[in-house]
Amino acid sequence: MDLLPQPIKDRDRTWDCSVDSSGWEADDEQLPNYLQGIEAAGIKTKIEILPIDAQHPNTYKITLRNNDETREVTALSTGGGMIEIVEIDGAQVSMFGDYCETLIYVSSPASVVSYLKRSGFLFDEIFEHQGKAVFIEIKSNEFLPANLYEELLAMDDVQLIKTISPVLPIKSRKNLTVPFITVEEMLEYNKDKNLRLWELAIHYESIRGNISDAEVIERMHKIVDIMQNAITIGLSGTTYDDRILGSQSVNFQKKLKEKKLVENDVLNNSVMYTSAMMEVKSSMGVIVAAPTAGSCGALPGTIIGTATTLGLSKDEMVKAMLAAGLIGVFIAAHATFAAEVGGCMAECGSAAGMAAAGVVVLKDGTLKQSLAASSMALQSSLGLICDMVADRVEAPCLNRNVMAASTSISCANMALADYDQVIPLDEVIQTMKKVGDAIPNTLRCTGLGGLAITRTAKKIEAMLAEKENQGKVFHKVC
Ligand code: SF4
Repeated sequence: MDLLPQPIKDRDRTWDCSVDSSGWEADDEQLPNYLQGIEAAGIKTKIEILPIDAQHPNTYKITLRNNDETREVTALSTGGGMIEIVEIDGAQVSMFGDYCETLIYVSSPASVVSYLKRSGFLFDEIFEHQGKAVFIEIKSNEFLPANLYEELLAMDDVQLIKTISPVLPIKSRKNLTVPFITVEEMLEYNKDKNLRLWELAIHYESIRGNISDAEVIERMHKIVDIMQNAITIGLSGTTYDDRILGSQSVNFQKKLKEKKLVENDVLNNSVMYTSAMMEVKSSMGVIVAAPTAGSCGALPGTIIGTATTLGLSKDEMVKAMLAAGLIGVFIAAHATFAAEVGGCMAECGSAAGMAAAGVVVLKDGTLKQSLAASSMALQSSLGLICDMVADRVEAPCLNRNVMAASTSISCANMALADYDQVIPLDEVIQTMKKVGDAIPNTLRCTGLGGLAITRTAKKIEAMLAEKENQGKVFHKVC
C-alpha cells in the first residue's frame, strides 16, 4: 500500500474556520442516522477490533482511503466527549480539536517554513513532522487566507494541503492562561472578591475562552436547552433496536403520578429525569455528554429535576450548571473522566461531585458548602468500577447514574447543614486519580469483570450479537 501523499494539488478546502465541513453539528437530530448518511455519501466503512499495541485503552486507528490517497489517523477518546489525535500518517502529533489545523505535505519543509514565517500570517505554533510522509503542521485561530494558500500550492516543495476544523466550542490560543486550576488556587483568587462558585465559573470560562461573561451565560443557556429537550423526549418514551433496557422512565412517571412511590419529590423527579436522559442517550438521541455520555443522566437529571421541583427559573439552572462545570474542570485537570482509566468513579462519580455542588447553588448555599458537597459526593464514589453489560452503556449504567443523582442530593443537603467534609476537594480529586490507577484493568470498561461476566450478561451479549449478525448496528457510547 502506498502511503505517500499523491502529488496532487488539493483545492477542495473550506476557508471559514467556524464552519464544520462535515455539515452535521454535534447536536444535529440526524446523528442517529449517521450510518445512512455515510452510505448515502458513498463512503464505505468497516470497523475491526484488533490488537494495535496501543498504550491508551481507548485508542482508535482510522484509515481513510479514496482513489487518490490513503491517510492514517490514530486518536484517543479521553472521556467527556474529548479526543486527542496522536498520530497522522505515522508521525506523532497532539491535536485536541481546539485549533484550526493546517497540514502542508511537502517534499522538503525548510523553504515552506521559511516562506510561512515571512508571510506575516499569525499562527500559534508550527511543527515539522516526519512519518510515512513529511508534513508541516500549523496551529492557528483562523485558516490560511486564500492568497497564501494559493501561493503555497504553487511552490515546488508543496504537494498538497489539508485542513482540520476545530470541534471544540472554545478554541485555544497562544499563551492561554486560566485564573486557577485547583480549588486552592481558586480560593486564593477569590480572597478579595467573595464570589460564589457559579460566578467563579464565569470568570474561569470567560478568561479561558476569551469571551464575555454574557457569552458564557448564553452558551450555558443553550446547553440547558438541549438537556431539557432531551428529558422531555425521554419522558415521552424512546425506542431503539440495539438496546438492553426499554423505556423505564415512562413507567416511573406513571407510578409517581399514581402515588405508588415513596414520596420525595426532589429525589423522585431527579431519578425520573436522570433515567429519561439516559434513555435518550440509549436511543442515540441528542444529549449533552456531561461529564460523559455514559454518565449523561445524573447531572442534568439532578439539576433540572431539583430546580423544576423547587419552582426555580432556568437562570438558576444555568448558575447551578456553571458551578458543576467548574468542579468538572478540576476533575478533568487532575483526575479523569475516562472509565477506561478510572472506572465508573470517573464517570458517575464525577457526575455526583459536579451535581452536588450545583444543587447547593440551587439552594443559594455558600462557596464553602458547594465545595464540601462535591468533596463528600466524590468521596462516596471512590473505587466505583465500570462493568457494563454486553458493551451497551445501559446496565448497570442507569442505576449508577441514579445513584449519582441520589448521592449528590444527599451530599448537598449534608453540606447545606454544615457537615464537615474532612478531606478537601483537591485532595479527593488527587485520590481519585490514584484509586483509578489501582482499579484492575478487568473492572475499567473492558467487559472482563464485574457484572459484565455474569451468566445473564453473557446471555444478553449473545442475544445482541445474534441480532447484530442479522444486520443490526453495534453502538457503544461512553
Ligand atoms: S458502568 Fe461504565 S459504561 Fe456504565 S456509566 Fe459507569 S463508567 Fe460508563
